[in-house]
Amino acid sequence: MKNGKRHLVVVAGGAGFVGSHLCDALLADGSHVICIDNLQTGRTQNIRHLEREARFEMIESDIIDPVPAAIARLGKGKVDFVYNLACAASPPQYQADPEHTMMTSVLGSRNLLRLCESTGARFLLASTSEVYGDPEAHPQVETYWGNVNSTGPRACYDEGKRAAEALTFDFARSGRAEVRVARIFNTYGPRMAADDGRVVSNVVTQAVSGRDITVYGDGSQTRSFCYVDDLVEGLMALMRHDGGLPGPVNLGNPNELMVSELVELVLAMTGSASKIVSRPLPVDDPRRRRPDISRAREMLGWAPSTDLKTGLEATIAWFTDEFERANARPAA
Ligand code: NAD
Ligand code: UDP
Repeated sequence: MKNGKRHLVVVAGGAGFVGSHLCDALLADGSHVICIDNLQTGRTQNIRHLEREARFEMIESDIIDPVPAAIARLGKGKVDFVYNLACAASPPQYQADPEHTMMTSVLGSRNLLRLCESTGARFLLASTSEVYGDPEAHPQVETYWGNVNSTGPRACYDEGKRAAEALTFDFARSGRAEVRVARIFNTYGPRMAADDGRVVSNVVTQAVSGRDITVYGDGSQTRSFCYVDDLVEGLMALMRHDGGLPGPVNLGNPNELMVSELVELVLAMTGSASKIVSRPLPVDDPRRRRPDISRAREMLGWAPSTDLKTGLEATIAWFTDEFERANARPAA
């Protein structure tokens, strides 16, 4: 909502983990939200609480396909913002159908960029720290061009996002759309899918259910985990920023830790007796990752405010509820 005007916002990927939190925040802010999602990795339960919300609409559709007519026919000035979060984000999920992953980023972004061109909406691409690949520069600053293996199993995602970034900035350069690109670093929180294969969802689910905790490699690789509410605030701040931007903007939490440290923290917080087991390190798994967020701080006045322990408490509570619900026996 700005100056009493209700925004019309399209969220592609709105039934996913981050997207559903973004839809909640946009609705809380007074916007009308249209979600487009093919439910490939997203779930209706993430948005079930919005079923009766008059300002929310879900359209089941793949962004590779033409934009649904209900949205495409909206004319100039009718759509304010288009967030493109549609894309499987977990390595096992995006590698399950690499061709679809690549096309989602490239063709899907093109369809949504063209929608922005015809409606005058501002476009935001949810890009990723994976554009830095296995980084030689540390921490990663937006001016670093990255170290991506273009032929490896992660390429469908990394190179797809890099191509989507290129396309996005080409639309901006030629004056066809106003754009924002967020390079998102590892994000966690409630509504991650328990079986998505990411480290936080795996480790918390394993700890809560008493199963073995899988550490890939020796666990010395690092990541920097951002709580989902902080990320959503950053995405909205970036989208709404009216001044010029020099390029993409890193969004993440600079608090870097080793995977083994994350595991120890989750074990201590849950009091779980789960054993730690070692599994092979996936091909091209980045050794370390930490965002330099100076640009977001300076240009958007944004920085994450949730410390890891607080964020993990909320995440553990949510996964514990999920686990108990799934295992609840119907009353006799
Ligand atoms: P997610 O898998 O939970 O959500 C992605 C959503 O997009 C799902 O609802 C899925 O069904 C939908 N989707 C996938 N392909 C689609 C297609 N072709 N057409 C329509 N819908 C499609 O993942 P997430 O963690 O919520 O990630 C959201 C976005 O943020 C993704 O674009 C991801 O690349 C980016 N990102 C996330 C992280 C993270 O740590 N969560 C890090 C970097 C970037
Ligand atoms: N990882 C792990 N155990 C798991 C899942 C992942 O040790 O059960 C590791 C993975 O190899 C990587 C890190 O945790 O080094 C983060 O993995 P995730 O898939 O969450 O994110 P990404 O690799 O895309 O940053």
